[in-house]
Amino acid sequence: MSEAAMSPGATPAAAGEPLDVLIVGGGPVGASAAALLQVSTKEARRPLRIAVLELNRPAATAPDVPLDSRVSALSRASERILTAIGAWPLIPSLRMQPYERMRVWHESVQPRSAGVLEFDAAYAGEPNLGYIVENRLIQTAALTAFESAGGHVIAGELSRLRAHDHHIELETSAGTLTCRLLVGADGARSSVRQSIGLSAETSTYHQTAIVANVRTELPHERTAWQRFLRTGTIAFLPLADGCSSIVWSADDSAAAPLLAMSQSAFEQELLRQSDSVLGAPKLRTERLSFPLHKVTAHRFTAHRCALIGDAAHVVHPLAGQGVNLGLLDAAALSELICAAFRMREDPGAQTVLRRYERWRKSEIEPIALAIDAFNRHLAHGVGPLSRIAQRGLALVNRSDEVKRLFITRALGLDGELPEIARRSPPVPPPPLS
Ligand SMILES: Cc1cc2nc3c(=O)[nH]c(=O)nc-3n(C[C@H](O)[C@H](O)[C@H](O)COP(=O)(O)OP(=O)(O)OC[C@H]3O[C@@H](n4cnc5c(N)ncnc54)[C@H](O)[C@@H]3O)c2cc1C
Repeated sequence: MSEAAMSPGATPAAAGEPLDVLIVGGGPVGASAAALLQVSTKEARRPLRIAVLELNRPAATAPDVPLDSRVSALSRASERILTAIGAWPLIPSLRMQPYERMRVWHESVQPRSAGVLEFDAAYAGEPNLGYIVENRLIQTAALTAFESAGGHVIAGELSRLRAHDHHIELETSAGTLTCRLLVGADGARSSVRQSIGLSAETSTYHQTAIVANVRTELPHERTAWQRFLRTGTIAFLPLADGCSSIVWSADDSAAAPLLAMSQSAFEQELLRQSDSVLGAPKLRTERLSFPLHKVTAHRFTAHRCALIGDAAHVVHPLAGQGVNLGLLDAAALSELICAAFRMREDPGAQTVLRRYERWRKSEIEPIALAIDAFNRHLAHGVGPLSRIAQRGLALVNRSDEVKRLFITRALGLDGELPEIARRSPPVPPPPLS
């Protein structure tokens, strides 16, 4: 390993001997996986040697810099995971916005008041449903937490890899690296997934997400607003500075003119298509666009390799689940590796990887199917089933039981949760030998 490429103060612990775990991609998910492993094993007599290879680390954000438009709605489970690694207190509280309710409706229901589905954190006895946080803050907080616990971030890019019986060898712009377990956390177009030979089902939604921050005439009321249209969805996520982050997922044919039109024409169109729910909007940032794809890796693991986060699965952003699912992958994998570590087992052992794949595939698949059904029937459909779904939003509103189920999902507290996401405050890891 090239010493120069490591973070200051790093020791070439892996020189001549493979790292225990190398995580390619220090995005929110990869950085959190690294920090979870580092924090859980650092007190051991022989701690795991872990490094992150990251191509494009963002600079720290100065406190007076306006809020970025790339944000995520983080669930309670994600908050617990980020708290357990010490990243949560590193995110400035003045830049995080707790949101207390969601209001969802469909354009076909008129007037709006007749069909708004409302989820309130109070139904679940929670103070809020989660937080809206800038992506770059989640990423930098998790990377800093990893380094503070003694981990190494290597600046570089993966170019090639070769699998051997007892290790994986990687060619990177920072030199050759070897590891006993390779974790691919390098996003939707994962080089790890492709280089290790894991196939994926990839399809386009024929939609583009337009993302920007807007100041609205009416206050956001700590509420996430989402209107399903016949040509997509518009969401307003409340921000800490009083503005809202919009995510407008529009059919490609509708998105192109929305991106090309003048600022004031766009604001007018947003006002009209959002049913004037927050009054007149004023753009505060440029409009960014993201073509929307679905990606599902057929397998999440290969010999001495596991995929987590968007490298394993990319879902439609309408349910705000991508980072949240990825952080649960990170926590599940880390829990299994730490259990193996306590038994002095190899972190890249097939038994660990098989358990991880079974666990997370069985959680992700039904969620991905449900998100697609929402997109198909609520944001597009014209057939009878879709009409029932669209009108059904109002019926769900009348059932406390069904609403509670949706709230538990929004909080990220359903399914088979890793231990660290289950309890509040997070449990300390069991003692190590
Ligand atoms: C419009 C939109 C809105 C969204 N809103 C939400 C939301 O509200 N809530 C939510 O939970 N999710 C949301 N998501 C999804 C979320 O953004 C992703 O799921 C999340 O960013 C995935 O994190 P990740 O760490 O797996 O991958 P990424 O964020 O893609 O990070 C991958 C990292 O790997 C690095 N990398 C890539 N290739 C290499 C290489 N070869 N070598 C070294 N490093 C490499 C990259 O530099 C990057 O830092 C949204 C997505 C979109 C498009």
